[in-house]
Amino acid sequence: MVELAPQAAGHTPDPSVRTGKPLLRQSFAGDTFNTAVYIARSGVEVSYLTLLGDDPYSEEILTLLHSERIDVSAIEQLPGRCPGLYMIQNSADGERYFTYWRGESPARALLTPGTQCQLVKSHLQKMDCIYLSGISIAIMQRDARAALLEFLREYRQAGGRVAFDSNYRPRLWESPDTARRVVLDFLQQTDIALLTFEDEQALWGDKRPLQSLKRNSRAGISELVLKRGAEPVLLQQGGALTAVEVPPVSNVVDTTGAGDAFNAGYLGARLQGASAHDSIAAGNRCAAQVIGYRGAIIPRDQYNDCTRESLSPVGIAADTADTRV
Ligand code: ADP
Repeated sequence: MVELAPQAAGHTPDPSVRTGKPLLRQSFAGDTFNTAVYIARSGVEVSYLTLLGDDPYSEEILTLLHSERIDVSAIEQLPGRCPGLYMIQNSADGERYFTYWRGESPARALLTPGTQCQLVKSHLQKMDCIYLSGISIAIMQRDARAALLEFLREYRQAGGRVAFDSNYRPRLWESPDTARRVVLDFLQQTDIALLTFEDEQALWGDKRPLQSLKRNSRAGISELVLKRGAEPVLLQQGGALTAVEVPPVSNVVDTTGAGDAFNAGYLGARLQGASAHDSIAAGNRCAAQVIGYRGAIIPRDQYNDCTRESLSPVGIAADTADTRV
């Protein structure tokens, strides 16, 4: 999406502009986009799937993905369309508010008739792991969701792995009931669930993290990660429950994209052979960097790849180094 955010504090506005409104900085962001960028920076080969328009902003998004070494060959550009937009506002106490214009977003047409569904499916089949977000699923059409679920069943039977973050955003769903039903369908096709307790509370009314873990385990997920802001991350894997401390971050500037960055650190390490426990540590390090920066994407030259420390020499053996997500 196109992002418009107030200029960072300390920025000197152009004195010739006297609108009484803050100057806005334009960039690009989005949940799966943010995760794709940080996974690619960890050295894992990444292909990104969405639909764009043919306007200058769509072209810029493609250029940006390309500059992050992300494969864009499966991205279709719909004539006459342009990407969704969102705006960030800061209240006096620094709280951030988001307003979205995504009703016309081309990504809503993912896997619908008239788009290149067959091509997309054969592209996805080549991946070792597919990462999905509940936001993408919420904006997809009903038939397209069913087609994606069907595809995921076959993909997993053929040995593919699915990672999923439910990223519950109530306004995107026609009702909480629909959200619960569809999210559950996708959880049943998930190998690595990267969930946030806040979302679990909003979607299911959970009071305690253990309730979330118990319910999600029943969906048959083998690797279940529960993020809880600054609280320890919980991992349920192979019947064992582990809590991994989140190192304190002294300069929390902006928590937008913390969960996306965590997911990238986790998957970047995990797909290169690190254990789930060490991948959580990588996720925490990636998120810590991102929350210390204003905006979801840290410029390349200011970002340290945080997956390396989690990789044992065995983990980066040649046979795992070319993992594709
Ligand atoms: P989301 O962004 O999806 O709401 P969380 O708020 O749970 O997800 O945060 C995801 C991760 O970001 C946490 O697991 C942690 O690694 C990091 N994080 C978030 N908030 C803080 C914080 N205040 N201090 C340190 N780390 C944080």
